[in-house]
Amino acid sequence: MTGFVFAPPLPVSVMVTDGRLFPVRRIFCVGRNYASHAREMGNDPNREPPFFFTKPADALVPAGQDVPYPSETKTVHHEIELVVAIGTAGRRIDSAEALSHVFGYSIGIDLTRRDMQDEAKSLRRPWDMSKGFDASAPIGEIAPASAIGHPAEGRIALSVNGVHRQEGDLADQIWPVADIIEILSRLVALAPGDLIFTGTPAGVNTILPGDVLEGEISGVGTLRCRIV
Ligand code: MN
Repeated sequence: MTGFVFAPPLPVSVMVTDGRLFPVRRIFCVGRNYASHAREMGNDPNREPPFFFTKPADALVPAGQDVPYPSETKTVHHEIELVVAIGTAGRRIDSAEALSHVFGYSIGIDLTRRDMQDEAKSLRRPWDMSKGFDASAPIGEIAPASAIGHPAEGRIALSVNGVHRQEGDLADQIWPVADIIEILSRLVALAPGDLIFTGTPAGVNTILPGDVLEGEISGVGTLRCRIV
């Protein structure tokens, strides 16, 4: 007998601002990439090499959909992040060429079971269940670089229920997008459909069911989502 055991699901996809769909392959996330956030988490913000973790593609929650509060946690944190959408494959990409591999940019929230992550850190366990759980990655529409360019500076901010929480500037990234692509593409072969969450500025804090999160990245877009 041949053929699929069950019908394979359609790829997870993210809306592009021009109405097309961006099919998602993998989600890579940078661990810490703003000195202010590294400091608030008790780490040395000096330019140590970036590290990466992943979320499954189906952790994404498209703009407009409610986000279910995750199970088995009492401390969920928001992390507003610039998201890079890879459009062209490559390995060992030089930073000088890196931006030519970018299809576009979006705004995402790296939701984190912080209590579980703290335990994982202290016990030297992996972060999968603290970072890569269901609905852990709300994301806005993808703005093509052909329309907005490659934002290297600009306000990145998040409010919860209208109260200001996170604030930073893309120019304060320890590792800019081109460097992240160079370093990540030494570790894995990047492919069209890969997303990279590029780290969060200071101000991470807890969320609760009923909260409304509103994020903004100047020149990229906005994202509004409700926790239910
Ligand atoms: Mn993050």
